[in-house]
Amino acid sequence: MHELGVTESIAGIVLRHANMNGARRVLKVNIKLGELTGIVDRYVSFYWDMVTKDTVAQGAELNFVKVPTVAYCNRCREEFRIEEYDLTCPRCGEVASDIISGREFVVESIEIE
Ligand SMILES: [Zn+2]
Repeated sequence: MHELGVTESIAGIVLRHANMNGARRVLKVNIKLGELTGIVDRYVSFYWDMVTKDTVAQGAELNFVKVPTVAYCNRCREEFRIEEYDLTCPRCGEVASDIISGREFVVESIEIE
């Protein structure tokens, strides 16, 4: 269960930006969440209420933008979405060696007032 740690990191980033911008309240946080991270968004939301208690970010809505896992085939240069851990290129059958997205876990934007 590493959601607590990542939620604390996200809260730290959000609070720092909220402070810098003199926010009275954080309304919404947009988070890019890659499939490969294995992070469960509802656990993050659960911990969010806990770690932001009595801060300007308390009650902020978390909006998760899911990022699919995409691989790149070195042989035919096809980019393709990976489902069920199948790394085989649908075009040429080669096993892809590069994952080009799906590991993201970042704060994309913050809405404050
Ligand atoms: Zn290929």
